[in-house]
Amino acid sequence: MRLDDASEYMDVEKWQRMENLLDKYGIKPIVGVIPNNQDPDMVGVYTKDERFWNKAQQWQEKGWSIALHGYTHVFETKEGGINPVNSRSEFAGVPLERQKEKIRLGVAKLKEHGLAPQIFFAPAHTFDENTLAALKQNSDICVISDTIATDVYYKNGFYFIPQQSGKVRKLPFKTVTFCYHPNMMQENDFAELELFMSECGSRFTHFSDDLLKRREVNAADEIVKWVYFFRRKEK
Ligand SMILES: [Zn+2]
Repeated sequence: MRLDDASEYMDVEKWQRMENLLDKYGIKPIVGVIPNNQDPDMVGVYTKDERFWNKAQQWQEKGWSIALHGYTHVFETKEGGINPVNSRSEFAGVPLERQKEKIRLGVAKLKEHGLAPQIFFAPAHTFDENTLAALKQNSDICVISDTIATDVYYKNGFYFIPQQSGKVRKLPFKTVTFCYHPNMMQENDFAELELFMSECGSRFTHFSDDLLKRREVNAADEIVKWVYFFRRKEK
């Protein structure tokens, strides 16, 4: 389970509702924190939550895994990079030096607030080889939550935890990440999620080093990825 877009500017009631639901079923998600949110779709919509950094520390204390989710969450290019789920990005196509700066400042901001990010995922799921180089040079992060595959895999010094679905459903893969944006959730999304958790809650796992295996990408992964992006293009 992965939650996107935690920051000082979020829908605190919906986030609380999500937290209560996860607690009820004992599920510990990966939560993506935006260090310096400047995205007008959030900053211009929600009032600043002065308790946010305390809240994030409490999440970390109860076993949620903190991920670095970009730096400002403002898109700078129309590129899709190596996981072209969308054609917009804060990272893909941005020069390496600027990406390094974003990673350095982002990690520093989270650390300043007592958070230790072990995972990275980019806004709009889009990043490129320079993002990986920037993470290598300016952070200890070697886990990415994104890309399409059947299971966790290892490539060029990074572990990739695949992220295949924007909502709960049964998929025939070893490891599946469901990506939720609590800010955007409606009543029926919460109902659907709770129903799934009540049936399959025990099959959720949380991020830990035990998940990180040095498995290489195989033909099945390539097929799943091809089908995913083929279907996405059709839409
Ligand atoms: Zn986001």
